[in-house]
Amino acid sequence: MTKFNIKMQRELFDFLNTDLQFIKGVGPVLAARFDDVLGGRRVLDFLLHIPAYVRAREITENITTATKGDVITIPLLVKSHKKGGAFRGRRRPTQISCADKMGNAVIIQFFNVNFLDYWLKKLPIGEWRMVSGKLDHGTRYIINHPEFIEEMQNADKIPSAQAIYPSGEGLTQKTFAGVRDQIFAALSDKLLNAEPDMVEFFDALRHVHYPKSDDDLMSNSQYIVKLAYWELLAHQSAIVISRRNRTDVRNRRTVRPQKHELMSRFYNILPFSLTGAQTRTIDEIFSDMSHDVPMMRLVQGDVGSGKTIVALAAAIKMAEMGGQTALLAPTDTLAQQHYAKIKPMCDKIGIVCDILTGRDKGAVRREKLISVRSGRTKIVVGTHALFSEDVEYKDLGLVIIDEQHRFGVSQREALRAKGNNPDVLALSATPIPRTLSMTIYGDMDVSIINEKPAGRLPIKTTKLPITRVNELIARLKPQIDSGAKVFWVCPLVAESDISDMTAVQSRYDELKKVFPHAGLVHGQMDKKQRDNIMAQFADDTSNMRILVATTVIEVGIDVPRATIIVIENAERFGLAALHQLRGRVGRGNMQSFCILMYGQNISEIGLKRLDVLTKTDDGFQIAEQDLIMRGTGELLGTRQSGWINYHFVDYAHHRDLFRLAASAARDMDTPSQTICDLMFIFDRGVNICA
Ligand code: ADP
Ligand code: MG
Repeated sequence: MTKFNIKMQRELFDFLNTDLQFIKGVGPVLAARFDDVLGGRRVLDFLLHIPAYVRAREITENITTATKGDVITIPLLVKSHKKGGAFRGRRRPTQISCADKMGNAVIIQFFNVNFLDYWLKKLPIGEWRMVSGKLDHGTRYIINHPEFIEEMQNADKIPSAQAIYPSGEGLTQKTFAGVRDQIFAALSDKLLNAEPDMVEFFDALRHVHYPKSDDDLMSNSQYIVKLAYWELLAHQSAIVISRRNRTDVRNRRTVRPQKHELMSRFYNILPFSLTGAQTRTIDEIFSDMSHDVPMMRLVQGDVGSGKTIVALAAAIKMAEMGGQTALLAPTDTLAQQHYAKIKPMCDKIGIVCDILTGRDKGAVRREKLISVRSGRTKIVVGTHALFSEDVEYKDLGLVIIDEQHRFGVSQREALRAKGNNPDVLALSATPIPRTLSMTIYGDMDVSIINEKPAGRLPIKTTKLPITRVNELIARLKPQIDSGAKVFWVCPLVAESDISDMTAVQSRYDELKKVFPHAGLVHGQMDKKQRDNIMAQFADDTSNMRILVATTVIEVGIDVPRATIIVIENAERFGLAALHQLRGRVGRGNMQSFCILMYGQNISEIGLKRLDVLTKTDDGFQIAEQDLIMRGTGELLGTRQSGWINYHFVDYAHHRDLFRLAASAARDMDTPSQTICDLMFIFDRGVNICA
């Protein structure tokens, strides 16, 4: 590389690292919303977030040829405005009456009266406008909140193939398109003298962000295949480097002295006997812990298989050997839950256990930190706040990571670098087919808990068409009246589609008529508010016995009295995701039920997929089936594996790429510039290229 090239390369990466708030028209508020949706707020995070599908906006002249749910683009003559507002305590929408070229009446409707004048100005009476939106009609033709309204001479501003990004509240598809356009305009300069590999990489990315049709977004599209290979190459390289680092003789440690007092107390206070799989897993962990190569182990076990006690055994063992343990949970709620379970046992054993989350402030926090620094606290439970700078450990020997899918190789590496090469134990309830687990978790050793504690009843699972929803509600009533708790899940899949959100809301409104204490949580709620409602639902003294939720109900949340879960539009979820959701119930000893409701458009294969769930409870088998039953060349945005969240890789269709990338990484001596760049891009940077 010439000097000039190096400078250009740096400019490119500086740009990729730029905070989205500095993109024109974004600012801090939108940047924060992007952060929620993208899981990051850099230009790069945006680039890795690809459209879910392409929406064709066919121009229609005659509204009667379109059917409900179609997205149409249609020239309309504006006839009259009727402002909405509150009326006898009810909100009435603003309605704009129009006519199409054939003279058919079409109504444009706005529910939100903010910016109303703006919309009315865009639709002046007596003029033609090109309008684009989703058709929703009963007896009349209605377009709610059209996405585009253009003067006739600007009609071509409405894209005929519109990329639809997975989104969240407060981010419209127009915002996405605007940011995308700016980013790619700026990128073309920065790529002028970049490495050829990088030019090729961003070119493929551009095709994906400007798809001509769904074909460009399918797992077998040439662009996706390229990007997926690079992504796997980055990941596999990181795995190889990480494993080499960990096992390097220079990183060997002195084995801690073995004692046996605390562990025997632990076994004495156990309220149950361990399953065979738990015992085997604990043995594997203890053997790692007494080795001079630090542990890097993943424990996989279905929901309810009893991973917490295994983790606790490891933590007590570490205390016995003189070290401290940090137990990292993905959310405050889960941290609290772990703490509530672990603390009483620690008290009995006689070791100090504490919790540390973002909520701890001031003197309380200071005191907790002092106890951790002095080494008095042996086990500290918390969220990633456990690794903020002000948290100092006396001797951090073990880090346990529960259900953190985004905890990638680089984060694990960063941990290893913190302190004296602590042992790392990751817990996951997401079964992964054995055939994949080596390539995905290649830097970790894997223990599998494939046995449930005795006495667990399998969850009775049935499928039911949505047309029978009222019958279902009627049958829930006596159950709920006699104390059962019900999760009612509605999917909120791709974009911030207003219709999805209204579906959740109207289901909630409907259920509230029958169950006045019903609760509602969704991802666009304030986190505190959400936690609050979750806590109410978990509380056995509260009247909230039915909780309507989008998929935000957390992995691992434990509400033992929840015995029924209803999943609407089950066909829109992956099997693994459904199995995960189902695991929210069946956690106590009572018989639990899962009802998979499906929509009218379900395909035959869709029904077969649901059958897998009604027939088996074994997460590993379901994961295998999930892989097998996927169609070829599926849309990337619609897959939810729950395993490692790759951006471009499709487990079912990119098996060959896995093999290719793994062997390229194995043969690697020192990583090339391209591999370093790719590891940076995919955030698997193992910090050896710096
Ligand atoms: P998960 O693997 O989903 O994290 P948990 O660790 O939360 O599962 O365990 C689920 C429930 O099963 C807990 O209430 C726990 O106390 C109980 N449990 C765990 N192991 C056993 C066992 N060997 N026998 C009986 N109950 C058990
Ligand atoms: Mg758990």
